[in-house]
Amino acid sequence: TVVYLNGQRVDYENAKVSVEDRGFQFGDGLYEVVHIYNGRFFYLDRHLARLQNGAKEIYMDLDFGLNNLEKVCRQAVKESGFNDASVYIQVTRGAAVRQHAFPKESSCTWVVIVRESKGNPQEFYENGITCITVPDERWSRCNIKTVQLLANCIAKEKAKKAGSFEAIFHRGGSVIEGSSSNVFIVKDNKLITHPANNKILNGITRGVVLEIADQNDIKYSEEVFCIDDLFDADEVFLTGTTTEIMPVVKVDGKIIGDGIPGKLTKIIQKYYQEHIQTVDC
Ligand code: PMP
Repeated sequence: TVVYLNGQRVDYENAKVSVEDRGFQFGDGLYEVVHIYNGRFFYLDRHLARLQNGAKEIYMDLDFGLNNLEKVCRQAVKESGFNDASVYIQVTRGAAVRQHAFPKESSCTWVVIVRESKGNPQEFYENGITCITVPDERWSRCNIKTVQLLANCIAKEKAKKAGSFEAIFHRGGSVIEGSSSNVFIVKDNKLITHPANNKILNGITRGVVLEIADQNDIKYSEEVFCIDDLFDADEVFLTGTTTEIMPVVKVDGKIIGDGIPGKLTKIIQKYYQEHIQTVDC
């Protein structure tokens, strides 16, 4: 594991931040997870752009410079020697005497952690996984990738306790997204996923799937659908940087479609696998 703290390489044991860091005290920070496939970054550019947008949304000045962060990410991956890795990026508003209002003089704490990626078990992709649904208890700005993930953590823990892979959030019966993934359903050969608004994180993987659909004449729409549409779907799959394209075969104990990964899901998995072999940006 390679760790950079505020632009400096540090030993894992010595990678420590202040007890008054606003990330620690208020969840006042943003993060990204980027995948490295065979030594190539999978859309680092898009992840950094999302980080920048998030910073704007929460009035955080990325004082260290986004170019600097990009350099450190590339350097850290190089030094790690890992071919398949995940890069965790976290940026907080920094350390200051505790008060809710933003400190006048603080500089960002920024961290880059490179870990070797083992990936999910292959059988998950081949046989599909199960999900539960849970009420979405998060705030109304889920488009921002903040480190305030307690509601997501509780949802994931509930899924784990139920023997499921993921918890799917709903708000008043409308399907929103997973606790750490976006949700797609397939109905009559058309992909449907929640619109990219303040209720979801606009996933990089979600975007790639829509691009794949565009390029291969697969119909799709970004619209709100309800839990019954989820249960009645022909196919369901999750998307995410570490989730990739994950077929869902059961939700709340109800079998989806034929109870095996769907036809369109498999096609998108195949295109996605091809895509990760070529992207390097
Ligand atoms: N929604 C949430 C809540 C997530 O945490 C994630 C994964 N970080 C996603 C969606 C998927 O986003 P991405 O494809 O950019 O990893």
